[in-house]
Parts: sequence; structure tokens; C-alpha cells
Amino acid sequence: MTDQKILVIGSGFAAAANLIHLVEAGIKPSQITIVGPGQLGTGNAYGCDDDDFRLNVRANLMWIWPDRRDDFGNWAKTHIKDDKDAMHRSGMFYRRRDFGRYVASRVDAVLAGADEQDNPIIHYPQIVTNLSRMDQGGWQAECSDGRLIKADLVLLATGNPPPQWPCSIHGEKLQLTELENRLVQNPWDGQWLDHLPAQSRLAIIGGGLTALDAVNALARRDHQGSVFLLAPHGSLPPEQADWVKQAPPSWPEAPRPSKILRQFRGYLPDLPPEDPVWQQAFEELRIDINQQWQALSDLDRRRLMRRLGWLWSRYRYRSAPQTIAAANWLQQTGILEICHARLVAIHLKVAGDDASLRLDLHDAKTGARHLAVDHVINCTGVGHDPLLANLVADGIGLPDAFGQGLRVNHQNEVIDPKGQAIATLLLVGPAMASSLGDVFAASEISLAGMRVAARLANQIF
Ligand SMILES: Cc1cc2nc3c(=O)[nH]c(=O)nc-3n(C[C@H](O)[C@H](O)[C@H](O)COP(=O)(O)OP(=O)(O)OC[C@H]3O[C@@H](n4cnc5c(N)ncnc54)[C@H](O)[C@@H]3O)c2cc1C
Repeated sequence: MTDQKILVIGSGFAAAANLIHLVEAGIKPSQITIVGPGQLGTGNAYGCDDDDFRLNVRANLMWIWPDRRDDFGNWAKTHIKDDKDAMHRSGMFYRRRDFGRYVASRVDAVLAGADEQDNPIIHYPQIVTNLSRMDQGGWQAECSDGRLIKADLVLLATGNPPPQWPCSIHGEKLQLTELENRLVQNPWDGQWLDHLPAQSRLAIIGGGLTALDAVNALARRDHQGSVFLLAPHGSLPPEQADWVKQAPPSWPEAPRPSKILRQFRGYLPDLPPEDPVWQQAFEELRIDINQQWQALSDLDRRRLMRRLGWLWSRYRYRSAPQTIAAANWLQQTGILEICHARLVAIHLKVAGDDASLRLDLHDAKTGARHLAVDHVINCTGVGHDPLLANLVADGIGLPDAFGQGLRVNHQNEVIDPKGQAIATLLLVGPAMASSLGDVFAASEISLAGMRVAARLANQIF
């Protein structure tokens, strides 16, 4: 006997969007249990406190329903009264935490409209530490508080695993505890900003959107101490331009990495990537890129990423214009230095009451370089998901082509080591990307949730 029909593991946008689509497809809220920390719908991406962490795309691209793309924008007009900085000529770029509020409001509305008012949804604010298959069928999840939950079907929505340090950290154990606040391993919630003296010297590790969020927040707080941003490419992501998507290009038959590369070279205009026409062409290439990706073997996917990965990561993830403007300003004032460098090691030093951090870098121009700073902010992107890793180690799921997530099929079913789809173990969220392609954005995750809900409503209940 299971406790529940559906167990959703995770509490971010993917879990919320799936819940909405499941209930709209006719599944009763009382048949669903959710396990995950915090307010449902916020997660790592939209659970931040900080006002200066903005959505990296304009409001009409942040949709839950493909036929209601203006829903968030319309909600924002009546519910966000204190964000005059959201407006830009390229569109409205709202605060991430406000999008989290919007998602929570849409969850509430869908649950309020569901038939079964007397049985509200169960949400445990815990972490699932282990998931195992039961002999009699179904799944058993073990939670961080020791609770065991049995369910017929599990939907994995564990999202973006928080960043891990990219290098070794040297220092006595005691010093590590003393310096805990100075080494910010996961900056996504923004709470570290509240403890930062304005004169402190900082190193920001990483040159992507999280690093830019940090820079934007520092600029808005009028930070005075030196900020060294260690960017692997020596530059920051470009800003979102005012592009308008047209028709997708036609792609060659029988995709191969070489053909896809040629298509990119031929289709992108000879203009700077900052130009709206260049971004428009890039966005058009994205429309059907997932079909190309899905047709490639694992080996070809890895080959393609070796050749195209730098361009993709550089220009796929663009920043809100407000954020770039803040970074430019901080650079002009001489506070921000962008270093074309990689972090090699962190050394903690304590002399009396005085604690400091020394960083060993590899600088692309000068070779070995050292920095003395007071705080290090780790903006290196996603780490590894322990629950998904357990499922691989336990022989339940098959690792994807990059060893980051689990392999899934087009119905979001996890594939087992024999290559068989597991009809009762589904995955929706960023970890489906190496199987399905460019599906990280909120809208893509919501689309996957719709597919899953349509199938479950017809097939299981
Ligand atoms: C900092 C950041 C900013 C982003 N900004 C944008 C943006 O502006 N626009 C856009 O379209 N996309 C953005 N994204 C992409 C983002 O991946 C998707 O939009 C989407 O929000 C992902 O939702 P999710 O629920 O899968 O993941 P997450 O937001 O990572 O949430 C996952 C949740 O599951 C919980 N969880 C993890 N493991 C377990 C477990 N074992 N048991 C229980 N709970 C667990 C986590 O604690 C977390 O609450 C951003 C991503 C990040 C990380």
C-alpha cells in the first residue's frame, strides 16, 4: 500500500508548474505530496531575498501557460508597485523574487479552484535523501527528518544543485569555521550581501549571470572595496538586446556536429553579438535546435559541446540590461577589475584577530598571480545533485552523456541501465537538458510539465 499517488521531489518552479498542470489536468491535489524546502515555486532560482537579483529575460518570456504568455506581465502591473527599475527599452525585467511571488499566487489560485477543497495538498519542507523501489511496486522516499513516504509515481524536480568550490581550500579546521561567512559557497539567495562591510575586498569567482547578479547588488549598495571578478573568458555576458524572433532556419537532414557548426557559422550575421540582429539570428537558431540535439549520439553531443560550447554558454545566457549597466559603472569607478583568470587554490590565514584569504590564480596574461581578499563569492554555477547521483549508484537510473543528470526519454521518463523507460519515475527540470536539449528556462520546464500532466491524467488515473 502506498501513502500517495504522486510524490513530487523538489519545491521550486518545476514542482509548482507541474502541480498546476497536474491539477488542471484533473488530478486531485490530495493525490499529490510535495517534499522540498521553502515556499513552493521559489526554489533556488526565485527564492532570493535580494531586490537586485533580476530575471534575465523579459516578462513575456516567463510563462507557465504557452497560450497566456502575458499572464506574468499582467500580474506584475497590478502587484508590483515598487520596481520602477524593471523597465528598459528591451522590455520589463522584474526582480526574481517577484516572479517567485507570482508563481506562488498561481499555485494558490489553481488549488483554490480544485474540486477537493477539504483535502489540501501536503507539502513537507524537507529534503529527500534517498529514493528506492519497493518490492511490491511503487517508490519509497526517505526524508531528512526520517519520514518515509510511499508513492505510486515519483516526479523528480530537484532543479539546480548549488555551486561547489572549484578548487582546494587550505587552512586549519578552526580557521575554516571562523572564516565561514567570508567564503560564500552558494550566493543564490543573496543573504551574504547583508553581512558585507562596504570596504571589504572581494573576489567573485565566475563570469556568468550569477557573477553579474553579485556585481549588480554590490553596485547598488555603493560598495567601496576592490572587487576582482575572475572570468574564464575575461569578459561578462552581453545584455539582452531588443530582438524579435522570426521564422526558424531550415536545418540539414541527418544532424552531425559538423553540420550544426556550419549552420551556426552560416546563419549568424557578420555583426557584433551585442547587435539585436545578431541576437535575433541566434534566437532563431534555438527554435529547432532541440530536434538536432536529440538526434545526436552521446559521442556527437560531447563533440558538439567541445566545439560550440563556448559560444553557446557565452551568448545563450544574457543579462538584464540593468545588471550590465551596473557592472560597467563599477568598472569605470575602478572598483571592479575583470580578470581573465582561473582560481587555483584558496588559503586561509589567521594572524591574531586578523583573518585574510589568499588566492592563487592562473591569469591568462601573466600566469601565476596572487590576490589577498576578505571575502570570496563562488559564482561558478551548478554543482552535483546527490539524489540523482544515488539513483545512478543504486542502478536505478542511467547517467546522461555528461555525467551530470539522468537520462530521460521524450515523455520525461527516467531510463534505467538496461535502456528501458521507467513509467513511474519522471524527471522535469534542468537535469533533463542533456537528453532533451535547451530546456533550462522556466517556460521550457513548464511545457515539459504540461506533457507529463497530460500523460498522467490519461494513463494512470
Ligand atoms: C540563480 C538562477 C537564476 C535563474 N534565472 C532564470 C530566469 O531569470 N529566467 C529563466 O527562465 N530561468 C532562470 N533560471 C533557470 C531555472 O533553472 C529555471 O527557470 C527554473 O526555475 C528551475 O526550476 P527548478 O524547480 O527545476 O529548480 P530550482 O529553482 O533549483 O529549485 C529546485 C528546488 O528543489 C529543492 N530540492 C533539491 N533537491 C531536493 C531533494 N532531494 N529533496 C527535496 N527538495 C529538493 C531545492 O532545494 C529547490 O528548492 C535560473 C536559475 C538559477 C539557478
